[in-house]
Amino acid sequence: MIKYGEIILKGLNRPLFEDRLVKNIKYKLYGLGEIKIRRCQATFYIVPANEGYDYDEAISRLKKVFGIIWISRVTSLEKDMAVIKDKAYEALVAEMEGKRTFKVEVKRPDKKFPLKSPDIQQDVGGFLYSKVHRDLKVDVKNPDITVMVEIREEGAYVYAHKEKGAGGLPLGINGKCGLLLSGGIDSPVAGYMIAKRGVELIGIHFHSYPYTSERAKNKVIELARLMTEYVGRMELFVVPFTDIQLEINDKCPEELLTVIMRRYMMRIAEKIAVQNGCGALVTGESLGQVASQTIDSLNVTNSAVSLPVFRPLIGMDKEDIIKISREIDTYDTSILPYEDCCTVFVPKHPKTKPKNDFCEKAEKLMPNIDELVEKAVENTEKIVIKTTGVVGANKQEY
Ligand code: ATP
Ligand code: MG
Repeated sequence: MIKYGEIILKGLNRPLFEDRLVKNIKYKLYGLGEIKIRRCQATFYIVPANEGYDYDEAISRLKKVFGIIWISRVTSLEKDMAVIKDKAYEALVAEMEGKRTFKVEVKRPDKKFPLKSPDIQQDVGGFLYSKVHRDLKVDVKNPDITVMVEIREEGAYVYAHKEKGAGGLPLGINGKCGLLLSGGIDSPVAGYMIAKRGVELIGIHFHSYPYTSERAKNKVIELARLMTEYVGRMELFVVPFTDIQLEINDKCPEELLTVIMRRYMMRIAEKIAVQNGCGALVTGESLGQVASQTIDSLNVTNSAVSLPVFRPLIGMDKEDIIKISREIDTYDTSILPYEDCCTVFVPKHPKTKPKNDFCEKAEKLMPNIDELVEKAVENTEKIVIKTTGVVGANKQEY
């Protein structure tokens, strides 16, 4: 049983969101065996067609599908109070360790069922209390365990265990963005946060071979691969950035090197993003983290492009970013040592308050730069990274 969250608020568009979620679920569970998905209010029931279904694997995959707020493993029971009470006891016992309070909550969409919700609640609650009163107390406001009883047309469902889902909106419902993906901690987290709002991603990585190594590039490919667990199939564009960096290094004033380099990154990323149907760029910048992430620097970087630039980490502390990167499993890869083109050519004293007109003036010192930009876009390598956990799917949609 899965419950979805925000989709409920989508009014007339709700079927569109639901259809997308169903599609994404089917895709994610591909290869585990035949399933049927039954929709019922804000709940989907995923019903395996055959015995021996790998529920644990299915649940661990479903936890990475955006749009789902929680998942429970349930059995459709006979609508008989004795059966329901036994199951409620079993569900409560399985959750009891270390807990102090519980309550019973009832939903009764099947209005033909002879007992009303408060009666069911009292009956099941009383039964459970008689069995566990030495260990647990009842707390209706803020219980440690909630035993849910749902009486529906097709059967009764009783459960107490919920696995937290990824939340957000179904992937693919909110367009596409170009993520500037470095090898660091921040950008995979930024991509995850935007994808969570239902956005498909392409990755754009700037590579300055031989100043940045093949190993650095492979690390980014690995990060993108880890991200596909959540964001689905991803196209990663690797831009050869060396010539542009050398040109900037050669011609521009030292204190502006980083910010001008970032302006060219944005310009190239914008071209690739537009070519690939993206409506915005995403970066892992966070206010004040480094000199190129002050308000003035961000302004100067922004004004190089006209696509909106989303910076989901802008108000977050590093600690919080690291926490998410651990949750999505990119942290261990992100902290492997590597060189980034941002770190190879760093000025000793970068300007923290750069101005647009200074940058524009400096950029005029590079008459061939547009050609170099065209060449970089032309020679960009596209790597398709397929979703992991989907073996043998011939239709790699998500
Ligand atoms: P991260 O941890 O993601 O590398 P950071 O804290 O190191 O970020 P910067 O190096 O200033 O910060 O980069 C800021 C943002 O610019 C990154 O989050 C990323 O979106 C983008 N970026 C930096 N380097 C690259 C690169 N080589 N290729 C693509 N994008 C990059
Ligand atoms: Mg970086």
